[in-house]
Parts: sequence; C-alpha cells; structure tokens
Amino acid sequence: MADYVISPPAIASVPVAGGGSFPVRRVFCVGRNYAEHAREMGSDPDREPPFFFMKPADALLPDGADMPYPPQSSQLHHEMEMVVAIGEGGANIAEADALRHVWGYAAGLDMTRRDLQNAAKKEGKPWDMGKGFDWSAPIGLLVPASKVGHPAKGLIELKVNGKVRQTSDLSKMIWSVPEMIAYLSGLVKLAPGDLIYSGTPENVAAVQRGDLLEGTVEGVGSVKTRIV
Ligand code: MN
Repeated sequence: MADYVISPPAIASVPVAGGGSFPVRRVFCVGRNYAEHAREMGSDPDREPPFFFMKPADALLPDGADMPYPPQSSQLHHEMEMVVAIGEGGANIAEADALRHVWGYAAGLDMTRRDLQNAAKKEGKPWDMGKGFDWSAPIGLLVPASKVGHPAKGLIELKVNGKVRQTSDLSKMIWSVPEMIAYLSGLVKLAPGDLIYSGTPENVAAVQRGDLLEGTVEGVGSVKTRIV
C-alpha cells in the first residue's frame, strides 16, 4: 500500500447489464461527428479530421440518477451519443483491428454548458469548463460486444418529457467507431477502462430543471436522467 496522505479517490465505474461493473479510466469525446450537427454548430463537416476533448471519469452520472443543473450556466444542452468502452488498450491501433479493442457499448449524454463552450470557442480558450463539469456525463448500462456485436447502424434518439428531440442513425457518423479508435490511439495510447463518447446528431437544445431526458441507442440500450 502506498503511503497516501489523503484517502485515494474512488474508481469511477459503469454497471454492466446482467451484472458486474466496468471500471473507468478516462472519458474521451468526439466532436462534430454527425454532418447535420456540425452544420448546426457552424462548421463544414467535410473538411475536418476527428477531434477529441475529455471529461473527468467522475463526471459520469449513473443511469436513472437526477442531474443537478450545473452552476455558472443558463444554457445546459443535451447531446445524445453512443458510448464505446475500451477493454483492450493499445497505440496506433489499425482500423481493421479496432473492434477487437472494444469491450462494449452504452447510451450516454454529453451534457454541455453551451454558453461557456461558446464563450471559450470565441476566445480560443479550452472547452473543459463547458464540457467536463460535475455530472456532465449521464450513462446507461453497459452491454458487452460479445452479446450485442458492434452496432454500425440503428436508431439513436433522445426524448425530452416524452417528445422526440434528437433522432438519427448510427450509420450517419462521419467517423465510424473503428476510424475514431484508430485516430485517437495515434494521439494517445488507449487503455482498458477508457470510454469514448462518439458524438451527437443534430437538434441539440437547452433543457430546464424538471425536464426528463430519455435516450435510446438501438441494439445497445437506454439512458435516463431528470434535471433538478
Ligand atoms: Mn458531444
């Protein structure tokens, strides 16, 4: 045992459907991975390589738990996404080999303080405080790829208070899961426990206290939270 001078932090984890728990090391997120969302954010989806930002692992919010409306923002946006869980690490992973590194998938929400993110963009400052705040990453139960395979198409949808807000198909991702793993693992060595939020489709919008968010990814599962 190391001679820690304060209590070591708990290991963040995501419950697995059917039992067990997936320990989380890092949370990566892909930006602008659906063309219609890139357009609504004012970008040209055709000319940009994938880019990544991060949230701390303890930003994960368990499925069904309430999400506290975050401080210093009046524009909390939802971004419905599929989450990829890395079971086997590696650097410079080949695209053709990438899916072997995936342990499973989940439905997740990349909650965003859009006002802070927009201010940061304008001033060329980092996105961290717009993206990586406390409880900014609601996530559903993880399902193993050994059970569900590797979904490359299927409905991705978010309802707010029972009404559809975002709806698209996984096949519309600009960078596929193997491509994003290949690209990201060329930037950093991926490790078991890493999660990748794979980007949101169009129609991101603000939510208010009291709103109920229910997202689904076909063939993967669901995620649910209420803003309080
Ligand atoms: Mn996102």
